[in-house]
Parts: sequence; C-alpha cells; structure tokens
Amino acid sequence: EAASQGSKYRVHDPRRLEDATFRQSLLSQLDLALANGEIWVAYQPKLDLRGKRIIGAEALIRWSHPDRGMVPPDQFIPVAEQSNRIAGLTMFVLEHAIRDMRRLDTFDPEFSIAVNLSVRMLGEPNLADEIAALLAKHALPPHRLVLEITENEEIDPNGMHLKTLYALRALGLHLSIDDYGTKFSTLDYIRQLPASEIKIDQRFIGNVHQDRNAWIMARSTVELAHSLGLKVVAEGVELPETLAALTEMDCDVAQGYLISRPVRFPDLERFISATKMR
Ligand code: C2E
Ligand code: CA
Ligand code: CA
Ligand code: CA
Repeated sequence: EAASQGSKYRVHDPRRLEDATFRQSLLSQLDLALANGEIWVAYQPKLDLRGKRIIGAEALIRWSHPDRGMVPPDQFIPVAEQSNRIAGLTMFVLEHAIRDMRRLDTFDPEFSIAVNLSVRMLGEPNLADEIAALLAKHALPPHRLVLEITENEEIDPNGMHLKTLYALRALGLHLSIDDYGTKFSTLDYIRQLPASEIKIDQRFIGNVHQDRNAWIMARSTVELAHSLGLKVVAEGVELPETLAALTEMDCDVAQGYLISRPVRFPDLERFISATKMR
C-alpha cells in the first residue's frame, strides 16, 4: 500500500502519531458506541424565508463519549467513511430521523427531514433499495426526505455514484448538494446531479450583509439556482442582518444558530408545536 512508504517518517512526527492513534481508538470504540446508545441524532430546524415558518429539520449525528465528552462528527465521520462503518451510522441516522419525523405529523404533515449522505455511501449497490424499505416500513412519503450529499470525496460522474443518485431520485425523495461552493461541490455538480436543492456553505453566508462581494456572490448563486429550478438553503445564519439580506436576495430557506442550534428531538417537538400554535 502507498501509505506504508511514508510510515517510517510518520512515527517521528509526534502529531501524526497522535492522530493515527486517536483515529484508531475512535474506530475501535465506534461499534460499541452504537450498541451502548452513545450515538444519537440532533435536529436543526429550517426556516422558510417567504412563509417565515419552520418547514423541516436537518438530522446531525452526535456521539456522547463517556470519557471524551462530545466527539464532533467532523472527527469521527471521516474515520467511519474510511472503514465502512459509515453504512451502519447512516442507516442509524436515517431510521431515527424517519421515525421521529412521523411523530411531527400532527403539527405538520408536510414537515421534511434532511439526512447527510457521504459520497462513499453512493458506492453501495443496495442503498436505494434499503432506503425504499425504510420509507415503506415507516410509511413515510418519499418527498419528505431530503438527502444532503456531503463532499468529503468526489462523485464519479460516470460510474456507480451517479447511478445510485438517479435510483434515489427515482424513489421520489429529494437530493441536496451540501456545502455548495467548496471543494468538489461546484458548478459541475449542479450540471450533472439530479438534485433539487443546493445548500450554500456557511463560509459564503456569514458576511453577506456587510461585504459587497459576498452579497453579489450569494445573490448570483441564488439566481443561477432558481434559473435551473433548484431551491436554495443558506447554512450558518447567526445574525438577524444576515437573515434580512438573504430574504432580500430571495433565498428560499435559512438554517443556523439564529433560528436554533441543533437540539434533541423533544426540544424540536416543543419548538415546532410552539411555532405552529402562533
Ligand atoms: P454540514 O452538513 O455542513 O452541517 C452543518 C454544520 O454546521 C453542523 O455541524 C451544524 O451543527 C453547524 N451549524 C449549524 N448552524 C450553525 C451556525 O449558525 N454557525 C456555525 N458556526 N455552525 C453551525 P456538525 O453537527 O458538527 O456537523 C459537521 C459535519 O459533519 C456536517 O456538516 C456533515 O458534513 C457531517 N455530518 C453530521 N452528521 C452526519 C451524518 O449523519 N452523516 C454524515 N455522512 N455526515 C454527517
Ligand atoms: Ca448537511
Ligand atoms: Ca460538510
Ligand atoms: Ca457546511
């Protein structure tokens, strides 16, 4: 393997060694964590900017580790992706998100739920069938599920990845291009993927209200997406001024700490019931 060539240098770099050990220990604890109930799902509400109401939520995986405290997904998701543990975690999140969402039907029968899907998962030949089975098991109309395609590795436009995306789309669920504007998630994705939504990455959102170039870039992205029939979600909205600027440029949906942090399901339920009663 190519990696073994560099290994004799790596052991002399204490940070590298620490990294590798850290990753290895996370990996070995991940299976147990799932079995022990340390893994759970948080939900962050999404605000429709026209109707000014909560229309859905994003499911975000959480790991409450008994010794380390909260381990952020940015640390263990890449480890899981490289070791095939990602399939188990993804199905766990999907199952919980779909089940929980059905419990919100009484407040809003059209409430939608977004689940993150690593590109790595698109290589699973049975993914669409498994998701179809989950939807059927919980009697969830497919259009209420959004899969946010996250960009840790590039989508292969000619092979299995695209085939899976079309199979998913054919189920009637929605695909969203996550972290739009970063890494591989660019114009090429809009052109090639059967998506119905883009999520503009938070790094392009935070200063739209005070930086002219940032405003122009975000507005142009919204216009481009709309021209192509895509919905636009802005992530990382922390300030009222940002929300106002996004509303003005006709962005469809906003998500961020200003509206709510990711919360446990009972808190989401309270949040939704409160906003629906108003
Ligand atoms: P992402 O999908 O881009 O999710 C947005 C991240 O921004 C989340 O971090 C969220 O908690 C955070 N965030 C939301 N609003 C704000 C805000 O106003 N300000 C700031 N500074 N941050 C905000 P989180 O939960 O730590 O997740 C990090 C990444 O881990 C996600 O980025 C996603 O790529 C990945 N991830 C999380 N859950 C899953 C999962 O179930 N499966 C997969 N494959 N990846 C996941
Ligand atoms: Ca996401
Ligand atoms: Ca991401
Ligand atoms: Ca992001």
